[in-house]
Parts: sequence; C-alpha cells; structure tokens
Amino acid sequence: MIIFKSKIKFKSHLQEVKNQQQSIGFVPTMGALHKGHISLIEKAKTECDVVIASIFVNPTQFNNLSDLDKYPRTFEQDCEILIKAGCDILFAPEISEMYSKEEIELKQQNIEDKSWAKGKTVDFGSLANVMEGLRRPGHFNGVVQIVSKLFRVVEPNRAYFGQKDFQQLMIIKKMAQQLEMPIEIVACPIVRDQNGLAMSSRNKRLSLDEKEKAALISKTLFNIKALQNEKSISELKAIAIQQLKAGDQFEVEYFEISDIETLQPVTSPNSTQQLIVCVALRLGEVRLIDNIILSPIKQAV
Ligand code: AMP
Repeated sequence: MIIFKSKIKFKSHLQEVKNQQQSIGFVPTMGALHKGHISLIEKAKTECDVVIASIFVNPTQFNNLSDLDKYPRTFEQDCEILIKAGCDILFAPEISEMYSKEEIELKQQNIEDKSWAKGKTVDFGSLANVMEGLRRPGHFNGVVQIVSKLFRVVEPNRAYFGQKDFQQLMIIKKMAQQLEMPIEIVACPIVRDQNGLAMSSRNKRLSLDEKEKAALISKTLFNIKALQNEKSISELKAIAIQQLKAGDQFEVEYFEISDIETLQPVTSPNSTQQLIVCVALRLGEVRLIDNIILSPIKQAV
C-alpha cells in the first residue's frame, strides 16, 4: 500500500492511475478502523481496479471540541488493517493540506462555510433538518465540506459509505447529485459485533460493561422490526423507549421511525412507504447512533 500525506504527490500518482484507465473506488474514513470500514474496502475491491482509502479526522464536522480531542487515533494499526484488507493507496493528509487558515477560522467562529458548493445552489431539502442535523448544528456542513474536497482530489468512479450513518449517506448522495459529480455512491450494510452492537470507532471509548449494555440498542431495533406488522408507529415508539429505559445509563437523544427517502418522521405510513428506524443516545461519555431498515409494509389482500 502506498501512503500519501501530501495532496500534490497523491494527485500526481492518481494521474498515472487514471492514465492507465483504471477504475477507482474510494473509501473515506476518520481512522480507528474496524470491520465496518473493512467491509467498505472489500466491497470496493470487488468493483474497482484500484482502492483508495483516506484517513482524516475532520475538524469541521465536530460540534464539540472535546469529542474531536477524544476521537481515537490509531494510525499504525489502521495501516496494518488496510494492508491486510488489500487497500492499494492511503491518503492521510494533515489538516493544513485540506483546509486554509480562513476556513479553520470560520469554523472557530461557528460560521457555516458554504464555499464547498463553488457557487452552486445545493439544497438538502428536509434531509438535514432532522435527527443528526438538528442535534449537531454544522455537522453535515462539515461533512459535505470535507467529502466534496476529497471527491475533487480523488475523482473516484465509486465512493463507498456505510448505512450505519444513514442520514450522512443520503446527504452525500444529494451533494454529489447536485454538484453534478460523476461518482456512484455505493451504500454498504451495517457491520455489527457478536452481541449486535453496530461497529463504530467510538466503541473504543466504551468500557467492557458499557459495551455489554450497548447491545440493548440493536436488540431494541430488531425487536421493533419483528413487531412492525403488529403495532402502530406510536406503539412501536413507546415499546422502544420503554426497552431503552431499561438500560438505565442510556440518555436517548432521539428515536425516530421515518420515511427512508425524506427521513421525515412518519405517524401513519402508507402502503408504498419504506421506513427506517433511527436512534441516537448517550452511554456515559459516548454518543452512539444506530438504525434498522424495516421490511416493506404488507399490503392488505
Ligand atoms: P467514519 O470513520 O466513522 O467516518 O466512517 C467511515 C465510513 O465507514 C462511513 O461511510 C461509515 O458509515 C462507515 N462505517 C462506520 N461504521 C460502520 C459499520 N459498523 N458498518 C458499515 N459501515 C460503517
């Protein structure tokens, strides 16, 4: 695996790859890699000639400085994991490679920098106004800021994102579409550990005891999916909240049953609507998110 820290050197190498007409699969990450990330690399390997990962802990998407400081950084281990997974190239830039001083200053002043749109109008509609968008002001602007920069550097044929961050996936799809970037955004399923907990870099900050408790999150989601044809939406929500309350250390931020396209909460779904259940909660100091896609609604016969 070739590792680039410099954007200029990386771009000149990429030019050679492109000259050879090789297709590029791109997997952006913030490091502290786990099996969820690896699944994206593996998927990319099946579909592309050259697989590129990036590791960049993006300061503009954190709305809490202590969360940024405490974000796990395990670069050496990450490189070993990527080599084992067969990744061809790693781009791991310093902050100064990706952001100008002015951009960092805007972030420090909590001003949303929209220059990533390069003068185009990008409208996320209602997608960014719910769930993570509501709870983490500026988060998605930071995400599209870095992902658009990375896309402009790498210009991949396909980019791979996990359904673990479902709202992020939808927003990136919309961004690529509205900026007319010719990149296929590939959605990859959530990878879970043995007890069902969705893999996350933040899980590294959980104690063993907390990890066991966190299994209740996916248990609740699976239970809601099992009950989806027997109960109304409000009953399902009540059952889930009750179940999550049993994890006495959980501080639930939101639990939503939403339309999978618009991500707007649904109260009485129609027969054509596909639904997704999304949850965010705090366990001790760590904020966790998870989701599950419900089966298509059964049509009455
Ligand atoms: P992150 O490093 O957390 O920014 O994640 C990088 C990519 O990996 C994103 O597209 C995530 O959605 C994806 N990802 C993170 N955790 C998982 C998981 N458990 N299963 C599948 N994809 C994941």
